[in-house]
Amino acid sequence: MNYRISLVLSAILLSISALPLSAQDNYEEALMKQFHMISSAEAYEWVAELASPKYNGRLSGSPGYIAAAEWVAGNLRKWGIKPGGDNGDYFQWFDKGYNEIHELGSLCLHIPVKDGKVIKKYYPFPDQFFPGMTSASGELTAEVVYIGYGVTAPEHNYDDYNGIDVKGKIVLMNRDVPFKNSRDPEYTKWVKYCYHQYKLENAVKHGAAGMLYIGGNHANPNISYDPNFIWCGIGPEPLKDIFAGLKTINKDVLKKIDGSMKPHSFNTGTRVSISANTTWHPEGRVCNVIGIIEGSDPVLKNEVIIIGGHLDAVGNCGVLLPGALDNASGAVDIMGTAKAMGLSGISLKRSVMFLFIGGEEVGLLGSKHYVENPKFAKEKTICYINLDMVGNGTGFYIGAGKSYPGIYKYLEEANQEFLHRSMRSSEARDNYGRPRTDGAIFSRAGIPTLGIGITGSLKPVHYHRPGDTAEMVTPEVMEDVSKLLYIALTRMAREGKIR
Ligand SMILES: [Zn+2]
Repeated sequence: MNYRISLVLSAILLSISALPLSAQDNYEEALMKQFHMISSAEAYEWVAELASPKYNGRLSGSPGYIAAAEWVAGNLRKWGIKPGGDNGDYFQWFDKGYNEIHELGSLCLHIPVKDGKVIKKYYPFPDQFFPGMTSASGELTAEVVYIGYGVTAPEHNYDDYNGIDVKGKIVLMNRDVPFKNSRDPEYTKWVKYCYHQYKLENAVKHGAAGMLYIGGNHANPNISYDPNFIWCGIGPEPLKDIFAGLKTINKDVLKKIDGSMKPHSFNTGTRVSISANTTWHPEGRVCNVIGIIEGSDPVLKNEVIIIGGHLDAVGNCGVLLPGALDNASGAVDIMGTAKAMGLSGISLKRSVMFLFIGGEEVGLLGSKHYVENPKFAKEKTICYINLDMVGNGTGFYIGAGKSYPGIYKYLEEANQEFLHRSMRSSEARDNYGRPRTDGAIFSRAGIPTLGIGITGSLKPVHYHRPGDTAEMVTPEVMEDVSKLLYIALTRMAREGKIR
């Protein structure tokens, strides 16, 4: 055997004997290569993109939301993530009208002075006055009637409208219901009355022309629209002004109502004007954006691990509401994981779904639509991991991690090996209240649900306000959330049996 042939042969033999090891090496190498490509700079760039005026605050139903959905889908396609929506596309559509707000509008209090004259006191946006996100258009001047919680519950012998005329008036209304403890099973008998939708519809039913919603100094599009009902949210100052001279304050009245479970409604004797300039679009449509990496195992590919978060935000109230932390951050965390998993080329046994949810801010519609029209059988859904406002702070918080130790383990190990951030977790807890997150919808559908959160906020949170800009996220922690999920999901999806 000449020297050259022997060299070639030994090289071949070497490579054959090294094969199993090299497959493992390739996996580790591929895993690490994309791990290190996940970057805070890219996370920031994507948050800034989604929060930009181009998407106009991503209100569900509006063209801005659809443009954002298309941008996300275009990225998924680039990274080799397969469409998992309807008709071979990335989109899972449903209908939802939306309200277009042309300008901030205003709220003013009429202060009577001598000779029947009035002084008008205007309130500043956003702390004391916030436009009603589903307000009809027009100007309304009327007397203000205090109606507690605005609840009519005959089965509880409770009616805030009993014996008081609100026809053509502006009702002054609190959030929630007189029964307080949402961890008490008794709360289920009250829960239908705490929806914002119900409260507005009940006011309309009683003939009110408008509403001042207390504690509403941020955007709330999760409420009904009525073509003849003008409303706005208010902060503490107009509330104080309306109560001036009434010898009581709202807090004390509520205490009385809650303590006796008896309504306490009255005419405040104050007049206000609300003005709004809006257009209702009943033809609105929303979608979830669904990307999938299919498993390669003939049996396990029917199982799916889902990470999801809402892509929509609260729109534009005459001023852009960028929705950077809420929830461009969560959507971008998912994008970071999707990109790394898509480009790593690592073969998975199970399927993984990246779910960008629409309609969250208008009543958790996208998550409801998904669980009613799932793409994988519910019993084959290993877990749903929700990301909402995951981009400001230093530590990881895994909601319900303690209730699902077999899944939590993967997150804990990924953190211990690679990220070394503080990590806490909690038990899933019963809550009989109005569901407030997409996670609650999945959980109530019987799917094991965890939520990722961030502890140790580093920046102020401008919830549903113009200040929720890209500068308000901390991209370093977003990079690490994507890395955490990338490692944990890749390993979970490759495992024969999840511990
Ligand atoms: Zn949110």
